[in-house]
Amino acid sequence: MGLLVSHQNLCLANMSQTDIFLIMPMSILLSDKVINLRDIFESMLIDTHAHLDLHEFDQDREQVIKTALEGGLSHIITVGIDYNSSKKAIELAHQNDSIYASVGYHPHNAGPSSLKYIDQVTQLAGDSKVVAWGEIGLDFYRGYSSPSDQLDFFKLQLKLANDLDLPVIIHDREAHTQVYDILKKYGKGKGVIHCFSGDKELALAFIELGYYISIPGVVTYKNAILTKEVASSIPIESMLLETDAPFLAPVPKRGKRNEPFFVSYTAQEVARLRNITLADLARQTTNNAKALFDL
Ligand SMILES: [Zn+2]
Repeated sequence: MGLLVSHQNLCLANMSQTDIFLIMPMSILLSDKVINLRDIFESMLIDTHAHLDLHEFDQDREQVIKTALEGGLSHIITVGIDYNSSKKAIELAHQNDSIYASVGYHPHNAGPSSLKYIDQVTQLAGDSKVVAWGEIGLDFYRGYSSPSDQLDFFKLQLKLANDLDLPVIIHDREAHTQVYDILKKYGKGKGVIHCFSGDKELALAFIELGYYISIPGVVTYKNAILTKEVASSIPIESMLLETDAPFLAPVPKRGKRNEPFFVSYTAQEVARLRNITLADLARQTTNNAKALFDL
């Protein structure tokens, strides 16, 4: 019965309120418990961080988007990593009402050659479907660009986002102290630490500054003790969910290409860790995302 009900939820995601009332007798037939329609409407998920423009989706992008939206996602935010990817993100957003875009330069792409395009990215940021500036930040793990270029670019983009009053999407890998210090000094407390990889204390420190913490599929990995602790203990009002697709697919898809629909596996694990229902988790995290990105 559980399967039938959840399959039915998938279909409901695409229906108007009137449609749902029309099929109500069927839902009662299918279910041996009363379905709270409000719950279903409010329990849709948002993937707050995907890279739908990347070549990994070239063969089946439309299908991937369809699967996510039919599967219970209300929105997907596709995130830019440079000028071209930001432009493509906006194009995708204009092709689908449920997709929104962010623009910016990933720290891997920080440097003088990117600086030439920063004015054009700023222009893109004015598009009606752009809801954030990012992803920006620091990555001292890969070190694809020099720390000083990364720092300069991070501060510059923070300022541009602040000027436009856009929330920021922050990438922080092996750079916790520096990212924290910069956000404290230059940030406006409006944004999200995406794919959060620090401990609970750091999460609470970012939350104190006003930022949301986004939990990735990593939380489903057995050995992800830190992330599980963060996901189970931070205030739910400060939590977002994401895939970072096509990267970091959650269990049971680990090792495969990630896609926005898989945020539902992450949500299930976080709900389990917090001992709350999936509907409650979805409702709260979706409201959070809507509030931050003004969806
Ligand atoms: Zn990303």
